[in-house]
Amino acid sequence: LADFGIEEALRELGVKDINEGSSTGSDNFSNGEVIESYSPVDGKLIGKVKATTQADYDKIMDAATSAFKDWRTMPAPQRGEIVRQFGDKLREKKEALGKLVSYEMGKSYQEGLGEVQEMIDICDFAVGLSRQLHGLTMHSERPGHRMYEQYHPMGVVGIISAFNFPVAVWAWNTALAWVCGDVCVWKPSEKTPLCGVACQNIAAEVFKANGLPEGISNLINGDYKVGEMMTKDKRVPLISATGSTRMGKIVAQEVAGRLGKSLLELGGNNAIIVTPDADIKMTVIGAVFGAVGTAGQRCTSTRRLIIHESIYDKVKEAVVKAYGQLRIGNPLDENNHVGPIIDKDAVKMYQAALEKVVEEGGNIVVEGGVLSGEGYESGCYVKPAIAEAKNDFEIVQHETFAPVLYLIKYSGDVHDALELQNGVGQGLSSAIMTNNLREAEAFLSVQGSDCGIANVNIGTSGAEIGGAFGGEKDTGGGRESGSDAWKIYMRRQTNTINYTADLPLAQGIKFDL
Ligand code: NAD
Repeated sequence: LADFGIEEALRELGVKDINEGSSTGSDNFSNGEVIESYSPVDGKLIGKVKATTQADYDKIMDAATSAFKDWRTMPAPQRGEIVRQFGDKLREKKEALGKLVSYEMGKSYQEGLGEVQEMIDICDFAVGLSRQLHGLTMHSERPGHRMYEQYHPMGVVGIISAFNFPVAVWAWNTALAWVCGDVCVWKPSEKTPLCGVACQNIAAEVFKANGLPEGISNLINGDYKVGEMMTKDKRVPLISATGSTRMGKIVAQEVAGRLGKSLLELGGNNAIIVTPDADIKMTVIGAVFGAVGTAGQRCTSTRRLIIHESIYDKVKEAVVKAYGQLRIGNPLDENNHVGPIIDKDAVKMYQAALEKVVEEGGNIVVEGGVLSGEGYESGCYVKPAIAEAKNDFEIVQHETFAPVLYLIKYSGDVHDALELQNGVGQGLSSAIMTNNLREAEAFLSVQGSDCGIANVNIGTSGAEIGGAFGGEKDTGGGRESGSDAWKIYMRRQTNTINYTADLPLAQGIKFDL
C-alpha cells in the first residue's frame, strides 16, 4: 500500500504504532482491553487502541466538567475563533485524514476527502453561528418590564457515532457544541477507532496552541459498554447518538430514564420515486450512485426504486446496464467505483438479505456474491446486487447496510407511489424524479413524503451541511448540522426584568400586604 501513502498518513495523524494506548484528552490514557483495527481494504491490522475503563472514564469526565467551567465563560465569537483554527488544521490534514477514513472504513478516497470537507464546512458554518446564537425579545404584559429569552451552554455533550461516517458526524456535533459553549466526550465506533484518535490529536493541537485545556474535547474508546457509561451518566445532559435503530431505542430509553436529552440519527430505508415524467438519465445517475456509493453503507443510501409501470422496463434496463460498468476494488484507487463493506459480519448480513428476498418471492436481476482472489483478500468485497421485490416483503422493510437495491413497481398516480414510499418504519431520506410540477409539489406537500429529507430531481444520498439533517419515525427524529439544529446543544432561559419601583403581579392578581 506504499503507493497510496497510507503509512505516511498514519504517521502524520499520530496514529502509527500507538499500541501503548491512546490519548483520550487531558493527558488521560485508556487502560482497558486492546481493540484491534483491521482494514477492510486489505485485511491488514492497522493499529490498536485500548478501551476506556470505568476509572478512565471518570477521570475523563473530571477533565471535561472542569474544562466546561472556563470554556462556557469565553465569549461565543472567541470560541468561534478556536473552531476556525480547527477548520484550518483540518484543511492541512485533509489528504491524510481522507486516506485514513478510506483505509479504515473502506469508502473511496474521494468520499474520504468529501467527509473531511464536510468537517471543514461545518466549522465555517459554526464560526458564523458563533455570532448568531440569538434569542428573542418579547413584549411584557406588565408596564415597566422587559422580557427576553437567551441560550446558555448546556455542559458535557456525549457523542456516540457509527462506523460509516467515522469523522464527519463527530464534527457536525462538536463544531456546533463548541461554539455553543459545551465540551464534548466522543465514543467513535469500535470499528473505526483510529479515525477517532486522529481527530482527537488534531483538536488537541489547536487547544494546546491556544493555551486551552484538551478536556474541551475528549475521546473514549470501546463498544456499547463504554457508550453506556455516558448514556447512564447524569453529568451528560445531552447524548447525540448516530447508528442503528436498534441502538437508538436502547439509548433513548436509557437517557429518558434519567430525563436527559437525546438527539438520535438512526437507520434509513430510502426510496426514489420514478414517475412517467422522470428524466431517465438523471434517474440512473442518482439511483446508481445512491445505491452503490460507500458500498451502500450510507444512512441515506438508496434502498428502493419505486418505478411507474409504464416506464418500469426501460428504467430497469438502464440501471442494470449501468451496474455492468461498475468496477469493484481497492477504494484508494480512484479507478474503482465500489470498495469493500466494513467486515465479514456485514458480508454475512448482505448474503442473508439476498437469500431472504428470493425466499420471499423476489427476483434477482443483478446477481450478488462475494469476491475472492487477488485484490479481494480481506473477504469484504461484494457485488452490488439488484432484486425485484414487493414493498411489504420483510427484508424490504428492513435496512440492509450493503449494496442491495430493490425495484418496486407502482401503478396509478404519485399518491400510490407515496403510499409505498412512506410504507416503511424509517423516515430519513426520499426523492422523486419528475418534470411534472404537480407530482413534485404533491411529493413535498403535507400528503407527501414523511421523511426528514425530501428531494426533487436529486437522489437520496448525502446532504449539504447548511440544512438540518435527520429523519422521522424509526430514524429517531433528531436534527443536526445546519439551520437551527444548534438549539439542542444549549439550554433556553426566559428572563423578565422589572425596572420600576412597583411589583405588579401577572394577570392583574392583587396580593395586598
Ligand atoms: P450501531 O448501532 O451498531 O453502532 C453505532 C454506535 O452505537 C457505535 O459507536 C456503538 O458502539 C454504539 N452503541 C451500540 N449499542 C449501544 C448502547 N446500547 N449504548 C451505547 N452505545 C451503543 O451502528 P453501525 O453499524 O456503526 O452504523 C450503521 C447504522 O448507523 C445504520 O443503521 C445507519 O443507517 C446508521 N446511521 C445513521 C445516520 C443518520 O444520520 N441518521 C448516519 C450514519 C449512520
